[in-house]
Amino acid sequence: MGKLVADDGRTHIVSPLMQESLVNRSVIASTDSEREFEIMPTVTLVGLGGQSIFDRGREALLPLADEIASLRGQHRMVIGVGGGTRVRHTMSIALDLGLPTGGVAQLVGAMEEANAVLLNALLAKHGSITMQREHFWDLPLYLDNNMIPIAISTPPYHFWEPPPEHGPLPAHGSDFGLFMLAEVLGMQRIIFVKDEDGLYTKDPKQHDDATPIPKTTLAALLADMPEELILDRQLFTAWDRGRHVREVQIINGLKRGALARALAGQDEGTIITKEST
Ligand code: ADP
Ligand code: MG
Repeated sequence: MGKLVADDGRTHIVSPLMQESLVNRSVIASTDSEREFEIMPTVTLVGLGGQSIFDRGREALLPLADEIASLRGQHRMVIGVGGGTRVRHTMSIALDLGLPTGGVAQLVGAMEEANAVLLNALLAKHGSITMQREHFWDLPLYLDNNMIPIAISTPPYHFWEPPPEHGPLPAHGSDFGLFMLAEVLGMQRIIFVKDEDGLYTKDPKQHDDATPIPKTTLAALLADMPEELILDRQLFTAWDRGRHVREVQIINGLKRGALARALAGQDEGTIITKEST
């Protein structure tokens, strides 16, 4: 039990933040811990794209589900799912109706839940389980039992999604959401499964002269960011300030064996690393 002091007429528990306002910048700076605890450092987060994978249906999903099932028990992994085209459609209806940004953000999560259920139906016989929104504390239980947890990607801000800089759409998308999930749980690796062989200098679907970037660093990307990106721009800004995620890999989920190779630590698609700071 902490010691109490009440010399200014208010009651404080003795601590470095006692009697301080938490909005004072010098106080905030003095609270930076040297080391932040890693909650689940050995878990890899595997994000399956909504548009790039789910919307392609059985042709893309069935082989990938088989591959995930075959990797069960070999890696401590959590699968994240995006929402795809239904997200765009639902957003356009919500905006047409004039729903607030936070209301739209909550709907995006609901669309992703549908994809989590679809994937869970394919993988249930291999021990998958959908994780309820931010019930992170269930994850060790699932992983210790060699189960395959499936989470949604949209950050769970729901109605608390802050007003965006431009327009009414929530600024925090699914790639960013998966980054946040990994970062808060102290995970070191995220593998994004999309429909291209990683990050290119520009969108390979639009430009024949786009060239792949097999290996790069976060610092190099921040200094010279491609105009068109395969991941949310916000992910890179947040990663720069983050403390845990060390590696982001982007692979082509339409290629058999790509996920197995990436999980085994092999070069596949694009590997972006963050140097220790
Ligand atoms: P999701 O399925 O997660 O919604 P998106 O469809 O939003 O994924 O993003 C994947 C798409 O991003 C790819 O299909 C590709 O056409 C496009 N893309 C844009 N810029 C790039 C880039 N620089 N490198 C690779 N792909 C890119
Ligand atoms: Mg996307």
